[in-house]
Amino acid sequence: MNNCKLFIKFYKQQFNLNKYKAKLFSTQMLKIMDVIWMYEEGMTAKVISRLKNPDQKGEYRPDKDEIVIAADNIKSEDDFNITLVHELIHARNDLLYSKKELENEVEKEALKTYNLNPGVALFARQIYKIDYNGKN
Ligand SMILES: [Zn+2]
Repeated sequence: MNNCKLFIKFYKQQFNLNKYKAKLFSTQMLKIMDVIWMYEEGMTAKVISRLKNPDQKGEYRPDKDEIVIAADNIKSEDDFNITLVHELIHARNDLLYSKKELENEVEKEALKTYNLNPGVALFARQIYKIDYNGKN
């Protein structure tokens, strides 16, 4: 069993997922449990060179349950991680509440999450096996 699976098993033992889903998602930071839950629901993430909009760093595709990071627009490892968290927040918001979200609120939450708990981004990178290529 790899580390991610062990980690998921551990968290499942600690928390009741359904209770968690029901009450937790109004918090202001993305949590590792959010990432695990989305992963279990079938969310995927991948890195490509660029998106249709050449300035865009990342995209959440609700029709495909997919997050895409545009490597060509990523400037640093921190940028990569914050972009990933940002898109994961879009995905969580979409999957859990269909309220209209404001782009600056999503970015604020992404920065706060990454500053206070960078492990969320690192965990998501590990679980989705995506890496910052360091070229930019
Ligand atoms: Zn956004």
